[in-house]
Amino acid sequence: MSNEIKKYKIEHDRDICIGCSACASVCPKYWTMASDGKSNLEGHTEDEIGNQSLGTNKNPITEDFEANLDAAESCPVNCIHVFEVKEDGTSKDLI
Ligand code: SF4
Repeated sequence: MSNEIKKYKIEHDRDICIGCSACASVCPKYWTMASDGKSNLEGHTEDEIGNQSLGTNKNPITEDFEANLDAAESCPVNCIHVFEVKEDGTSKDLI
C-alpha cells in the first residue's frame, strides 16, 4: 500500500513529544532535536513551532514517505501523524 502514496503531509504534536530522539535517529533528513529537548520537523523554525502546538509541513511532499512513516512508527507517544493527500485534496490519516 505504501508504495502507492503520491503525496503526504506530516503533523507533529509537539506538546506530547517527550524528546526521545527516535524520529531523528530513524529519519534525520526530516527530524532534528531542538534546543528545548523536543524534536523539530524539517522546514519549521523553533519559533514557528513554539507558537503552535502542532507542526506540519506546509506543502504535501512526495519523497521519503517510507522514512517518515518509520519515524512516526518509532515514536513511543504517537505524536507524529502521516496523512496521505489524495488527488481531490482530501487526506487520510495513515498513522
Ligand atoms: S520519536 Fe516522538 S517523542 Fe521521540 S523525539 Fe520524535 S516526536 Fe518526540
